[in-house]
Amino acid sequence: MGRPHRLGWPACFFYALVSLIALPGASARAWHDMTHLAVARAAGYERWYNAAGADMAKLKAGGRERYNHYFNNALGVDVTPALVLLQAQRYNAPEGIQGHLYGAVLGSLRRYLRSTEEGKYAEYNLAFCAHYVADLSQPLHNTPWDDFNRRRHTANDATVEDDGLPAITRNIRLHMYDISLRGEDFERAVAREVARIANLSRHLGMRLRAEDRNMTREEAYTQLGHSASLLRAILIRLGKDVHVEESLPAAR
Ligand SMILES: [Zn+2]
Repeated sequence: MGRPHRLGWPACFFYALVSLIALPGASARAWHDMTHLAVARAAGYERWYNAAGADMAKLKAGGRERYNHYFNNALGVDVTPALVLLQAQRYNAPEGIQGHLYGAVLGSLRRYLRSTEEGKYAEYNLAFCAHYVADLSQPLHNTPWDDFNRRRHTANDATVEDDGLPAITRNIRLHMYDISLRGEDFERAVAREVARIANLSRHLGMRLRAEDRNMTREEAYTQLGHSASLLRAILIRLGKDVHVEESLPAAR
């Protein structure tokens, strides 16, 4: 993995400020289970059936797991790669109610690589990563835990769930595209893509608020396509076999 990154005072100040104004009672939900499995399956992750495990872990790990699933962007600021890298230090931190989803993506990857190096069974770390990458595209996990979020969270988590695993997987694949993480520092490349998708999700979340409505199915599949595309790129960069039967549409 890449070198640790030092951040200047603006990033630290921003993080401290967000911590102060983040609201309590943050979401414990996420895309529903089948949707999580479908993202991992669409990406070609061999152990896609483990991708809902991170939500199960909340039951027993409580605060150690809960804050890995969202970021309450109370200031409504752009998510930068620097913020993603800063949050990585907070992976599994049992405090920090504003959440550190972006860091959880990197943190779980770090653990996967470290466990692999140490000759340990590392796959569960990758299954956690697959889960967090999917949470990244849920607009309400990237926007403030406000009245709108409380009212509409469950409905938006379930937007495509009833389509069933095969159809959700198929539809996500129609929305996938190529992301390359090759040829540069792995962590920096992942942080850049995490920030890009987080901002897309955040902007959609703000649009939903402005229009006081739920996501459409098409919007949900577009979002899930971002997650599956990034997960697939991560798996490829890690040298994993990706089991995707259909060819993917060209990069966009
Ligand atoms: Zn989650």
